[in-house]
Amino acid sequence: MTVRTRVAPSPTGDPHVGTAYIALFNLCFARQHGGQFILRIEDTDQKRSTSQSEQAIFDSLRWLGLEWDEGPDVGGPFGPYRQSERSELYQQYADQLLENGHAFRCYRSAEELDQLRQQIKDAGENRALKPGDLILSAEEQTRRQEAGDNFVIRMHVPESGRCEVNDMLRGTVELDWALQDAQVLLKSDGMPTYFLANVVDDHLMEISHVLRGEEWLNSAPKLKLLYEYFGWQMPVLCHMPLLRNPDKSKLSKRKNPTSINFYQRMGYMPQALVNYLGRMGWSMPDEREKFSLTEMQAQFDIQRVSLGGPVFDVEKLSWLNGEWLRDLDDNQFLDALMNWSFNRDYVMQIIPHLRTRVETFSQVADKAAFCFNGMPAITVDHFQHGSVETESMKEWLQFYLWSLEAQVDWQRDGLFAQAQSISKALDVKLKDFLHPVFVAIAGTAASFSVVDSMEIIGADISRARLRHAIDVLGGVSKKQTKKLEKAWLTLQQSSID
Ligand code: GLU
Repeated sequence: MTVRTRVAPSPTGDPHVGTAYIALFNLCFARQHGGQFILRIEDTDQKRSTSQSEQAIFDSLRWLGLEWDEGPDVGGPFGPYRQSERSELYQQYADQLLENGHAFRCYRSAEELDQLRQQIKDAGENRALKPGDLILSAEEQTRRQEAGDNFVIRMHVPESGRCEVNDMLRGTVELDWALQDAQVLLKSDGMPTYFLANVVDDHLMEISHVLRGEEWLNSAPKLKLLYEYFGWQMPVLCHMPLLRNPDKSKLSKRKNPTSINFYQRMGYMPQALVNYLGRMGWSMPDEREKFSLTEMQAQFDIQRVSLGGPVFDVEKLSWLNGEWLRDLDDNQFLDALMNWSFNRDYVMQIIPHLRTRVETFSQVADKAAFCFNGMPAITVDHFQHGSVETESMKEWLQFYLWSLEAQVDWQRDGLFAQAQSISKALDVKLKDFLHPVFVAIAGTAASFSVVDSMEIIGADISRARLRHAIDVLGGVSKKQTKKLEKAWLTLQQSSID
């Protein structure tokens, strides 16, 4: 059998270290067996998928040296490798399931679904929505069909019993059918859900082994059943442990930067980041900490993955990066440094803002330092500004951060427009609103335009600095976050009205 593995990220948001982690293990597994590694873009969520995010996935995985043999940008014999270009296929397979009685058209409205769920809860049952709950009487079904009501296609699932799923690392895992719902396969807009598209594509792309995140284990019974309905052989499954924050919670950007771009912009070496990801739940036979991708591929053995949640600890990553840096000689160090940010393209973005603000070259480094640094060394004192309370500044920074987390096009005008509209909705002078932003981004209010600065240092470092500033100002508790989220919704509403 030819081993074929894949990584199948959804192009929403920033390229995630978790994607690189899964890609790395799929790549090593394929290489170890002389097989192929495929990149598939799962962009069936048309509202959240963006081409910028897709490009960022390509760029960041390539930066890490995790090259794929087949994919949307390199082609291959099983294309297209972008799910949005394969919709007709999914439709066809959904129809096949309908014809064979493995799926049904469901005309239930969102309100009805809520009611049905409530009824199950009220009856004290701990189970998912089943076909039996959803299927309408024949007359009602015909009535809605004739009225042209919206419908989705859902799969049939057993009411109860146990489902056994085999996992390369965990052996046989037993899961309860009662908790598996009559999964939607095709949405009312004709687009497939993850379940249908993933199964169809893994089969048609002849994927032999699926190494994916642990979060998918619970829904494996539905995938297994789909393979059975189609009469296809299911790939061998392997659920990798979830990366965790140092406090053991699931890795999240609130507690740890999760974007690969962040690590690139912070000046980590790609070799060090790959090395670190390779140590997440895995070790070399001789337990050495520093190893290259080639070395990892040569020694790879999936059975060496341990299931305890590996902690992604930025401090350890920095230590490892230091080890990698020390291996460079002076020339290599200089090359890597210039390649990183001391290059014409990057410095040229800064020059126009500094040229007129200095009298001698010796003032340049100091004024431009924040464009090369990590987090600024700031304390609450740096934020002091007239009579504005630091508590209010913290709230403004949080609102601005939320708006910038949704900002796809990272350019000064858009960043400025966001600041303007929030400050207006808050009824705060723009100058006051931007004060804490200056401190967060440049470490001081005495710097050139903060929106230009943010465009230069990029989305990842900017967002991380805003988060850092919020922490310096005391952080936002869970309770406070809830309160602020409400206020944020109201603010957004008022800025639309
Ligand atoms: N699109 C899914 C994700 O973003 C893929 C999961 C899988 O590998 O099956 O994680």
